[in-house]
Amino acid sequence: MPAILALDQGTTSSRAIVFDEVCRAIGMAQRELPQIFPRSGWVEQDPEVIWATQLATACEALANAGLRAADVAAIGITNQRETTIVWERASGRPIGNAIVWQDRRTADRCRQLEADGHGELFRQRTGLVLDAYFSGTKVAWLLDHVPGARERAQAGELAFGTVDSWLIWKLTGGAVHVTDVTNAARTLLFDISRGEWDDQLLELVGVPRAVLPAVVASSGVVATTDADVLGARIPIAGIAGDQQAALFGQRCTTPGRVKNTYGTGCFLLMHTGTSVPTSRHRLLGTVAWRTGDRTEYALEGSVFIAGAAIQWLRDGLGLIARAEDVEALAASVPDAGGVCFVPAFTGLGAPHWDPQARGAVFGISRGTTRAHLARAALEAIAFQTADIVGCMQADAGVALTELRADGGASRNDLLLQFQADLLGVPVVRAAQTESTALGAAMLAGLGVGMWPDGAALDGLWRAGRVFEPSMAASKVDALKAVWTEAVSRSLGWQRDA
Ligand code: ADP
Repeated sequence: MPAILALDQGTTSSRAIVFDEVCRAIGMAQRELPQIFPRSGWVEQDPEVIWATQLATACEALANAGLRAADVAAIGITNQRETTIVWERASGRPIGNAIVWQDRRTADRCRQLEADGHGELFRQRTGLVLDAYFSGTKVAWLLDHVPGARERAQAGELAFGTVDSWLIWKLTGGAVHVTDVTNAARTLLFDISRGEWDDQLLELVGVPRAVLPAVVASSGVVATTDADVLGARIPIAGIAGDQQAALFGQRCTTPGRVKNTYGTGCFLLMHTGTSVPTSRHRLLGTVAWRTGDRTEYALEGSVFIAGAAIQWLRDGLGLIARAEDVEALAASVPDAGGVCFVPAFTGLGAPHWDPQARGAVFGISRGTTRAHLARAALEAIAFQTADIVGCMQADAGVALTELRADGGASRNDLLLQFQADLLGVPVVRAAQTESTALGAAMLAGLGVGMWPDGAALDGLWRAGRVFEPSMAASKVDALKAVWTEAVSRSLGWQRDA
């Protein structure tokens, strides 16, 4: 029976899942990935550990599924996005640790590019805002801070890649240096309309063309693994950044479909079709995937603090012992009792974009209990999501018909019910909550012809529980008005931020 091996290289762990031809997970393995914090605002990982943990999970997942490498029809890869690695082409040795997406060391460089008036150029060509989050300035930093690296890069001796690229290099024994278009789209160096690296952007950021990988489609055979690595030559046929893979795995493949991944933060992506989206709300425009010659696009917005607010109830306040306990506590009261919690711990993103905003709890009275606070924290996740959905609908000019949910916090029924009430459309929790790995497997299976087309994949996607909106519109409006007022009062708090 043919199977697909999905490699899901995430920020905190490497995972591998084996899917059968009806997209059932039949083997899985996971290993934690150590984080390195050399100084405040810096986050690194050891590229060799990324590879070792990923390889180990691949072997374990196959063993758990009772399969050998020769039984695998294709490999799909999905990865933490923007994390940057530079290595020597000759030896395959990294010249330093991976700089993780969260790392802020290049914030000043980005501010400088903005101050020099380049923000609009980057926004137009890449769909992104000039921010340290993206890979480009991280590559330049490595070339400028590792002795001799810039000269060696110019001489063609070094290779840059995001984690997808690095894994493919390792899987092919150093034979293939590629990245897929979704990962390229997160570098600040890639023109998402033309689908090419952009010389002007490369020059501004300071990255020589000689280090860049070739850009390939997200689906289709791009390489074959070295026989010595897994014990057989397996086609690598699907590649996408984690959020795009989740969008594909959730079958949000027609304009207007939206998925939200409820994790530490929330990541919302709306499929917008085959033309590059522009946002009036500073949402990101990004490539959803490329299959064959067809490039599809998405709008992306994120909530910085979502499940992290639940972690704060647990670790900061000690209100609950485990994150999942929040649901029973919140359900012990009929509503938040007038409490409104704005978890703007690190400022607010779309649509407010205020780094000076800080967390606040409004409406506390003598009768307020920890249960009300728990409920308000869950509601805040849904309010923030609804704000972004509002921006997406306005930018794309389409109305939402349903929201597809995945991620750790999507297990919370109370949260998803409140989300459906706020949005006024059904919220559908995917039966397979590992949407990211599933999406990578679907891209890979499609790439080797295991499924004929997207329609066949639509037929394999399964809804889990569906949450129908049930709250009276007048009540929804009243709650939204309180939320909006609370947000406005939390803006601008931290004057020196
Ligand atoms: P990530 O991939 O961002 O690390 P996960 O998808 O594993 O996150 O989800 C973990 C996050 O979800 C944590 O922030 C945790 O507080 C939150 N979480 C987990 N279970 C629940 C739950 N039942 N209700 C609300 N939040 C939850």
